[in-house]
Amino acid sequence: MPIARILFTMPLPEPFDYTVPEGMDLVPGAYVAAPVGPYDRLGMVVEVLPDQPGTNRKLKAVTAVYDVPPMAAPMREFLTWASRYTVSHPGTILSMALRAREALVPSPVELRYQLAGPPEGRLTPARAKVLEQAAALGSVSSSELAAAAGVSSSVVKGLVGMGALEEIEEQVDLPFPAPNPDLPGAVLTGEQAFAAEELREGLRKGGFSAYLLDGVTGSGKTEVYFEAIAEVLRSDPEAQILVLLPEIALTQAILTRFEQRFGAAPAPWHSGLNPKERRRTMREVLHGRARIVIGARSALFLPFRRLKLIIVDEEHDGSYKQEDGVTYHARDLAVMRAKLEEGAVVLASATPALETVVNAEAGRYIRLRLAARPGTARLPEIELIDLRKAPPEKGKWLSPLLALSLAETLAAGEQSLLFLNRRGYAPLVICKACGEKLKSPGTENWLTEHRYSGRLVCHLTGYSIPKPATCPKCGAADSLMGVGPGVERVAEEVRVLLPNARIEIFSSDTAQGGEATRGIVDRMAASEIDVLIGTQIVAKGHNFPNLTLVGVVDADSGLKGGDLRAGERTYQLLSQVAGRAGRAERPGKAYVQTYTPDNPAMLALAANDRDGYLAIEREVRSELGLPPFGRLAAIVLSAPSAELVDKAALEIAAAAPNSEGIELFGPAPAPITVLRGRHRRRFLVKSPRSVDLSAYMTAWVGRLKLPSQVRLAVDIDPYSFL
Ligand code: ADP
Repeated sequence: MPIARILFTMPLPEPFDYTVPEGMDLVPGAYVAAPVGPYDRLGMVVEVLPDQPGTNRKLKAVTAVYDVPPMAAPMREFLTWASRYTVSHPGTILSMALRAREALVPSPVELRYQLAGPPEGRLTPARAKVLEQAAALGSVSSSELAAAAGVSSSVVKGLVGMGALEEIEEQVDLPFPAPNPDLPGAVLTGEQAFAAEELREGLRKGGFSAYLLDGVTGSGKTEVYFEAIAEVLRSDPEAQILVLLPEIALTQAILTRFEQRFGAAPAPWHSGLNPKERRRTMREVLHGRARIVIGARSALFLPFRRLKLIIVDEEHDGSYKQEDGVTYHARDLAVMRAKLEEGAVVLASATPALETVVNAEAGRYIRLRLAARPGTARLPEIELIDLRKAPPEKGKWLSPLLALSLAETLAAGEQSLLFLNRRGYAPLVICKACGEKLKSPGTENWLTEHRYSGRLVCHLTGYSIPKPATCPKCGAADSLMGVGPGVERVAEEVRVLLPNARIEIFSSDTAQGGEATRGIVDRMAASEIDVLIGTQIVAKGHNFPNLTLVGVVDADSGLKGGDLRAGERTYQLLSQVAGRAGRAERPGKAYVQTYTPDNPAMLALAANDRDGYLAIEREVRSELGLPPFGRLAAIVLSAPSAELVDKAALEIAAAAPNSEGIELFGPAPAPITVLRGRHRRRFLVKSPRSVDLSAYMTAWVGRLKLPSQVRLAVDIDPYSFL
């Protein structure tokens, strides 16, 4: 009997062998169930070996094969590559690809009811009501119909007996409607048309190609990549397209734009989907029927049949980096995935990452530029406010110039946006009597005061308590005082300043879930809000035509902490925020409050000199051999006690293989030294670009035998240094 090597969706390093029963036809990529211990588990066939008579290994047999198309070869190669690159078990990566395993079986069906013919017999008022509702609703379930008519389900059943209603079986998960590439798009400007034509030409040629779509905020990057999508839809009836967006940019607004352009909304994939939506998208992707998928970073692991185009919108965004479990950067993996699929990848941004710019300049990506906003829209003028010279009044956070502009903007009937990347009321609570700073227990993390909920919250661990009436240290009453601003406190200041303005806060506390977010975005777009005060949730993707003033309350906050990308991220975030202003006819203005107006990121921001900023950044990183001029990897370990974690750290350090050019830093206490009761230590590893750092890390951690209480995570290309 032939033998199938099966990889399971479990954290296992390699596949296991099984016999293939008579009559079962297995090919590589087939999804199967096979016994592991007492249970059947989901797995994928990696390889089928011919009958090997003479070997008398006792193997179990494959139980069943799923009736769906096998995983395509490029996707299988991608899994193998990703597992190696991220130093993770292949089975773990496979389980990321098969998150919704119900997708492997056909959609469940349900009975629905619709009008059939004239009733045989007398209609009671209840029956008449049901028929009236059935006429209005089309095909519905019995319970929905009964509820709509205000009767019991038996009345519905009775009408079936009378021939007035008929039962039909319908799939619960419907296929997605097909997008139509031939609906008219925007009339493109000259530079948009040029970029679109370059993309179309590349796609027609086929094979792997990578593009950097480098266009200022609001320049029409979306319109341009729509043309690339249309080209793929038209030229290859089986090709699939993936559009990746940062999770918080996945709002109704972008879905509506797709719907307008292609006559159908794309298949969604993000953390907010319920299990039914998840299995529907995955099933349609797996069968190759979903043509366009729009999703957050994990959509990159969906088992597409034929993925010919990947768009990574806002490619610089930090949320493409997955920090828990298997750590990966979706932008970097997207480029590899496109390469293996022999497809195209488009990285779009107004503030591309240094990594991407360097790749474009080295000729690895084709750079397409959009320098202007279409029509009369202009980029906002950005002005720094030097807080050392023009400080806010004591206890306030807005400098006089910004306060005046807010009032003028309101008087002109236009909207303002104040940006402060701090949730809650105050980022620190201190006791006036004894000086105690309130921290999350067992950690060094400050508690943030939230006035609306009346609680003190740790944003790192989620720990939260009602605000105590007395100091937990010295017992003084009414002595706890919030220090520093959060969005709630800025809102309080604006309420005093502009008592007649309609003011709202937009943060993950006020916009939980799609509905609430949509509510705020819709009210802002409809000019029902005068001043919106928000965290980074406001920075991305929104188009508010009447927004003309942006104020950055504390531009320096992102520069603190020794992260190598702090300056770059600050530049990106602030220019994105500023880019919300003046997106339609009226010109926009952005004020940036800073104590460090001489910082290169601030100077470049004011001069709108992105490339100048990148040049400085490049010099520093190249000098220090940091990415993209060198490679980094990290190890984070944690254990329930400091002794245990320190002992393990020493063993790990001793086990580090010697290798030319590798520099090892640590073990050092992680900046978040204690998290959820676990003590944490970090190693940082630096190597030249020529070194295969993944292989080095695999060799290193592969030989470790750690006590079960010690957890170890490898992070290739770390972005967070906490
Ligand atoms: P980006 O993705 O670069 O931020 P968008 O594609 O979202 O830019 O475009 C910004 C706004 O300008 C959108 O409202 C879009 O519909 C509009 N727009 C872009 N290009 C055109 C065009 N050629 N004609 C008309 N409107 C356009």
